[in-house]
Amino acid sequence: MVDRVPEFAKLFSEDPIDLGSEAGLPTGYQAGHAFGKTYHAGMLTDEILQEDLHNMLLAYEALVNRCGTIPSDIMQEESGGKDIEETRRYILSRRIERSSKVRKAVLKAKQPICECCGLDPKLDYGYGGRTHNTPLEVHHAKPLRGLSEGETRRYRIPEDFTLLCPSCHRMIHKTEDPSNLSKLKQMLRFKIARDTSYFLP
Ligand SMILES: [Zn+2]
Ligand SMILES: [Zn+2]
Repeated sequence: MVDRVPEFAKLFSEDPIDLGSEAGLPTGYQAGHAFGKTYHAGMLTDEILQEDLHNMLLAYEALVNRCGTIPSDIMQEESGGKDIEETRRYILSRRIERSSKVRKAVLKAKQPICECCGLDPKLDYGYGGRTHNTPLEVHHAKPLRGLSEGETRRYRIPEDFTLLCPSCHRMIHKTEDPSNLSKLKQMLRFKIARDTSYFLP
């Protein structure tokens, strides 16, 4: 974990901590301890504490932006990215897409059909569940190229998002430019043929 945010290593100590307890919670803290700082009682001022807490939050934010504690090779495999930059962009977009707040807002603003192949879960599968559970995925369609670390909150709903069925979503992430929906549409080789008799008993 420390290797991923090396610029914070000099501010804190990586030594194990001893909280002097055998209870579950403190033992868990000890085991999960990555960075820490020990203060001498009486020497601690509000300013020092505030500055350290602030730096700790910055370290945490940087860690999350750099894939958290998920091993790099696993993330790289999932993204299919060739380099760490590409992997980081993929992780950023997946984080935005997985946010339940974003998903809810996008589904509220858009018609619940796949914007590439036109799959309509209601018509094509007789899906009768609630909209937010619809088997469609939210795709972040704004290129993340050039977006610097931490700039994950800059997106517009619904303009920056596309609703896609799981297959189209997987496919668009395999294309060179995952923000190019028209390119994916051109690649599509099938048309959905609807026949309402499918739903007759
Ligand atoms: Zn689709
Ligand atoms: Zn996506």
